[in-house]
Amino acid sequence: MSKNQYFNFESIRIAKENKANTLKFLRKESLPYLAGRCKLLHKLAACYPMEPCFSPVCHECRRKLRVTLLTYLIKHLNDCNYRIVTIIDYNYLIDEDFKFFDLKKYQNNFYHRIRNAGINSQIIGCFELDYHQDINAWLPHFHLIIPDDTETIGCLRTVARNINKHSIRKGVRKRPILVQKLNDPIKQISYLFKFMPQMVISYKYQGKRYTRKISLKGEQKVIALVKFDRFGFNSLIFKYGIRLPDFTKNLNRKS
Ligand SMILES: [Zn+2]
Repeated sequence: MSKNQYFNFESIRIAKENKANTLKFLRKESLPYLAGRCKLLHKLAACYPMEPCFSPVCHECRRKLRVTLLTYLIKHLNDCNYRIVTIIDYNYLIDEDFKFFDLKKYQNNFYHRIRNAGINSQIIGCFELDYHQDINAWLPHFHLIIPDDTETIGCLRTVARNINKHSIRKGVRKRPILVQKLNDPIKQISYLFKFMPQMVISYKYQGKRYTRKISLKGEQKVIALVKFDRFGFNSLIFKYGIRLPDFTKNLNRKS
């Protein structure tokens, strides 16, 4: 079985096609942020296997990094049980805030909250953002892989509660933390490291509110692409008490 089949990833051909679609999208004259789009367009267009652009929004580089990262984690996360924890920050960002959003500061703040909660476990995860159509705003969240112990989970519940102490979202029940078993590591970890924001749409069915994730489009897609490119892989990956190899250095290696 080849590695691609093993991880159920997009093939190299599909990654190339998706990248071509991103380039086509960035060329659309009807879209705003011309300067940011052009800069990103040139960067992605100048990405070659021997000189990769390392952008999280380049499908080819992202695919290579995800394969490398997953190979590493699957190999190293095998000596105890793990859980996947999602912590959602309901203090949403509107487009204007997002343009000036400082991920490093945000990650540091989250890091200190975890440390102050007294967590000693090693944690690896990924920062993510979803655009919520019903409130026209971005909700930041972290997906984390943690050792399966009740103390760490309890501390993370406190962290999630404190982050959301002052957030206001009328009419929506807040679920700031979601704890899941790691039953299917390859599938769950590859989903965790997507490096791509999505749009959340909500709908009602038989009086109940449901949500669904779809691809971003238009202005929000431009904002997300430009911003995620600036963040870079190393800022998007969250590490606590753990040292990882610099995966972007390995992008040239054959995977
Ligand atoms: Zn690239």
